[in-house]
Amino acid sequence: MASGQPDGLSEATAQVIIIGGGLSGLQAAHDLQESGVSCLILEARDRVGGKLWSIPLGAGKGYVDLGGAWTNNVNQPKVTALAEKLGLQMIKQNIIGDCIVEDYGRFRYGSDPPLSREDQATFVEVRNRVEALCHTVTIADFDQVLAEYGHMSMDELVICMGATETVRRLVNIWTTAMLGVESTQLSAIFFLHYCQAGGGLLQMRSDDAGGGQHLRFRNGSQSLSYGLRDGLEPNTVMYSAVVERVEQNLTSGCQVTTRDGRIFRSERVISTVPSVLLNKITFSPSLSADKIWLSAHSKLGFYAKVFLIYSEPWWRKFGLCGLSQGFNGPVSLTRDASNDQDGLFALICFVVGQRGREWALREEHDRLAEVIAHVDRIYGVEIPRPIETREQIWNKEEFSQGAPCPVVPAYCLRSLSQDQWRPEGFIHFAGTETSTVWKGYMEGAMVSGSRAAKEVFDILSTS
Ligand SMILES: Cc1cc2nc3c(=O)[nH]c(=O)nc-3n(C[C@H](O)[C@H](O)[C@H](O)COP(=O)(O)OP(=O)(O)OC[C@H]3O[C@@H](n4cnc5c(N)ncnc54)[C@H](O)[C@@H]3O)c2cc1C
Repeated sequence: MASGQPDGLSEATAQVIIIGGGLSGLQAAHDLQESGVSCLILEARDRVGGKLWSIPLGAGKGYVDLGGAWTNNVNQPKVTALAEKLGLQMIKQNIIGDCIVEDYGRFRYGSDPPLSREDQATFVEVRNRVEALCHTVTIADFDQVLAEYGHMSMDELVICMGATETVRRLVNIWTTAMLGVESTQLSAIFFLHYCQAGGGLLQMRSDDAGGGQHLRFRNGSQSLSYGLRDGLEPNTVMYSAVVERVEQNLTSGCQVTTRDGRIFRSERVISTVPSVLLNKITFSPSLSADKIWLSAHSKLGFYAKVFLIYSEPWWRKFGLCGLSQGFNGPVSLTRDASNDQDGLFALICFVVGQRGREWALREEHDRLAEVIAHVDRIYGVEIPRPIETREQIWNKEEFSQGAPCPVVPAYCLRSLSQDQWRPEGFIHFAGTETSTVWKGYMEGAMVSGSRAAKEVFDILSTS
């Protein structure tokens, strides 16, 4: 059991200190406590969930997910099992109706966008080749793939495949929507590896049963975090505990110090902070050159969500499903984010990548006006004014600094096959980016939490 008085400036001890109360940290704590290992979670924010953050719109009016939202119940077993255990109600992503690509027009959901014949053929060819490549990027033969594609950006890769200007624009929507990063700035090999972890590009981008965007949570995805937290022993989570220093000593174990001077001691530490934030923590002795390198060179994309909430789902009246792609304004993608049961009708607008970064520099009022005006242009029909709006810019969050998952340049991936997330002394590493399945997703976060907990448990139980 954890001991000591965690409030004030006194010390507390536990067998394991977990840095971060996102999904991965909560899952690690759950597994450790289930195995009889005591632990404390030090969470910088005043809430659990990290990149899961669900906001109620008022009593009985439903929730919007400012962070992670979608899952599926086919190949994301950990999220599915937890959702079922907690009895969470799920909403199937609406795909009834046509889609729109700005500048090109509308088309039936599930068919290819209405491009010229040349663009159409090239798009299908490029998509198929990228999909096939994803499945060759296995850790086992990583070196060979790196040698072949390690120097290319995603844009350069598809140019080599014959992509036209139009196809390059569409590929850029993939990378910005999935990682907040322009295809010109994103290592091809990282993108292929990222997709491979989620079962391939097509599966990740799909809304079908096994796809990345199949189901949402009626009461918000943060219900997963609350459910895990509520299953932990009382006072396991310390809020507003910003870890600034982690010291390890062969004889006395680990000492963790927070910004407000609180000190915590443990035998092991599990860090779940995203790699880009690792260099905000002083480790003594310092982490290996690999991790310092990774932390310094990983980048987070630009990622913002803007919810436009309407009194009715007007797009459905026009035979549209709410899926659109935009080029000439801040909005890259819109989706139907409604919850019909609670009378919540919303379009979620993804404002991502470089266009998002420029948009974020404007005043809040102008940002909203630009998003609404761009949605008007994309849809090109008489659209009612939203009755309510919500904006979330993840790059402005001190303890996220972007989303959804750090992007690693090819030269850092070189050490992937040497297990760049290996423990360092008494410190173990979790977090969605450390996962080899559904990296960047909730499932990846949960898998990584369980993996790190097992690493620690195996060591503690034999020592
Ligand atoms: C806009 C957006 C859309 C997304 N869409 C989806 C989706 O549709 N489906 C999906 O599956 N996933 C999606 N994701 C990704 C998903 O939310 C994440 O993969 C998952 O929540 C990550 O969990 P984690 O525990 O690895 O990291 P985090 O949630 O980032 O948790 C890390 C925790 O560490 C804390 N922390 C940081 N620094 C310190 C410190 N110094 N001291 C103490 N605590 C610290 C943070 O506050 C945070 O709580 C999305 C994310 C975003 C932001």
